[in-house]
Amino acid sequence: MSRITVSKSGARSVERDASLGRHEQRFLELKRGLEQIEYFCKGTVLKRMMKCGKAQCACATDATKRHGPYCELTYKASGKTVNVKLSPAAVPLYRAAAQQYRKLKTLLNRLDKLSKTILRHQAKLAESKQQD
Ligand SMILES: [Zn+2]
Repeated sequence: MSRITVSKSGARSVERDASLGRHEQRFLELKRGLEQIEYFCKGTVLKRMMKCGKAQCACATDATKRHGPYCELTYKASGKTVNVKLSPAAVPLYRAAAQQYRKLKTLLNRLDKLSKTILRHQAKLAESKQQD
């Protein structure tokens, strides 16, 4: 993990503590992870048994006689659950994309936490600079 070098811009004369440097390096590493994200999509691929809607079909009254399983992509949009039917061929694509989305979210959360830490450090530096 030591192959990443942070170039120091000469413009900064304020002394920087070591932990800030480590946070910045970690930020760069995580940011690189963003580039490895493939096509992504929010949601979960679920298998569902369905009613066909015909009143005389056994599925109408007996839950064990429902049809399927069918795969759907399920996600929330503006507070509502959206279900999109997936063909068998589409299922692995959407499964992989949903996994990429989770990976992206994890990365973003980490970057967000790290950014806040770095910003706190930077704010302190800026404050101490003003007092000079
Ligand atoms: Zn039916």
